[in-house]
Amino acid sequence: MITTQKLVSKEDIFPDIIGQDPTKNQLRTALLTQRHIVLIGAPGIGKTTLAKSIARLLPDEEVMDCEFHCSIHAPACPLCRAGKTKQKKILKGEDRFVRVQGSPDLTAEDLLGDIDPIKALQFGPLSLEAFTPGKIFRANQGILFFDEVNRCPERLQNALLQVLEEGKATIGSYVLEFPASFLFIGTMNPEDSSTEKLSDVFLDRFDMIYLGYPESLDIEKAIVLKKGKKLDVICSDHMLEVMIYFVRMLRQDENIQRKPSVRATLGLYERSQANALLNGREVTLEDIREAVISVLAHRIELKPSVKYLRSSLEYLRDEFKKYSEEIRQNKLRSFKQTDEHERGDFR
Ligand SMILES: [Zn+2]
Repeated sequence: MITTQKLVSKEDIFPDIIGQDPTKNQLRTALLTQRHIVLIGAPGIGKTTLAKSIARLLPDEEVMDCEFHCSIHAPACPLCRAGKTKQKKILKGEDRFVRVQGSPDLTAEDLLGDIDPIKALQFGPLSLEAFTPGKIFRANQGILFFDEVNRCPERLQNALLQVLEEGKATIGSYVLEFPASFLFIGTMNPEDSSTEKLSDVFLDRFDMIYLGYPESLDIEKAIVLKKGKKLDVICSDHMLEVMIYFVRMLRQDENIQRKPSVRATLGLYERSQANALLNGREVTLEDIREAVISVLAHRIELKPSVKYLRSSLEYLRDEFKKYSEEIRQNKLRSFKQTDEHERGDFR
């Protein structure tokens, strides 16, 4: 696993994530004690990026040269157990990162493996040849990244628990024993209400780490400049701040229940530039206005009390109109100061 030296070092070990210092510290301590983690935060704030950078911190590891990165000390997959894997190989941490998308259709068999009925007839129901290992095996010595784990059916949660607790799983008449030597990183979106509740027993196995929206205008700006596409058109610093601040204001808006993510800010940045390019000028308020509906309307959801009076489309149009007026009259001269002042509410 990740060395203590690395985890306690003063360097920024998660350079791909800008800001989020408290979260990074939480992660360091969770990793130091080798705890399984669930990252909680709205979509588009970098949960996947964060998990991948954890994988990059893992040291190279010698594993069996099989599809499932079996440990050389305790091979687990059917081929290795049958002694058919002769070679070993060195794998980087990021090559031991396995991503599973949580969904109500996901079965324990998808994750753990299944018995091929035709081969079972041919070789016998308990034969190694009949067993097709599932994705979880590939996370051996690495990271099992489980996106939106709260979307999984309870049966799968239980199967996963058994693996984490006992290092074995039961599929049909099979009891598969394999060393559960992987780090589990799940994610959950706290605003997602369409999901199954995770059982208390399940939650009890994990530490929750919260990720908020970018803490300040400056941090969000740095993210946009790093990750957003830059088109061949001038976008002044002021216009960039105008769009970011608009998204940040929407996040604070009490009428909005589903808030726009960083992806929304990125979208606004890219589409405003594209509009300016088509219009043959540098980015103006007008170019931002043209992008607002298409980028933001589907990304926000108004509270029921507001929703029945106005659509999110109308709402955004009105809000942006008011906002543009304020910008034109120079009322929001210092975004940064206002933003600092409001910052406490972002988490
Ligand atoms: Zn193997």
